[in-house]
Amino acid sequence: MSNQPPIIENCHCGSLPDLAVVPMGGDGLDERVFASLNRLHEHGGDQWWLYVSLCNQCQQNWMIAQDERIYDNYYLRRVDPATVEVIREQGHWPADFLTYERVLLLGRTMSKPWTFLDPRSPALMRTTEDLRRERPEISVEEVAYLLAIPVPDARRLLQKPT
Ligand SMILES: [Zn+2]
Repeated sequence: MSNQPPIIENCHCGSLPDLAVVPMGGDGLDERVFASLNRLHEHGGDQWWLYVSLCNQCQQNWMIAQDERIYDNYYLRRVDPATVEVIREQGHWPADFLTYERVLLLGRTMSKPWTFLDPRSPALMRTTEDLRRERPEISVEEVAYLLAIPVPDARRLLQKPT
């Protein structure tokens, strides 16, 4: 055998910050990060974007939110086994990614905003519905900010179909 030092961790967990934004696609970082992550437990229901994973190399747990609608990012928060136990046994999740509004706010502040070509795209419409379900009093300006779209477009999205 060679004299190379042993590979301790064949994963990317150690190189990620405690709260990491991993873009989908792009340079393939997502594939490298997720290569060692196994999904343990999904929130499901209204929080369809939320789950916890376990690294099969270093045993690090991650709470993950997945937004393939607006910003095309994964958001990973490092969590300890005790937190995962509470999630799995009591269904009590840390608040970080518990609303889509919070997930979008991370996208808005931690990644590059971009513009939809179609202001009536299904992704925008579904997301606006989610935001309003979570917080019925959300304003047009808040929706516009979270989705990085012009206020008039947000206003059209918020108009109830007649
Ligand atoms: Zn790992």
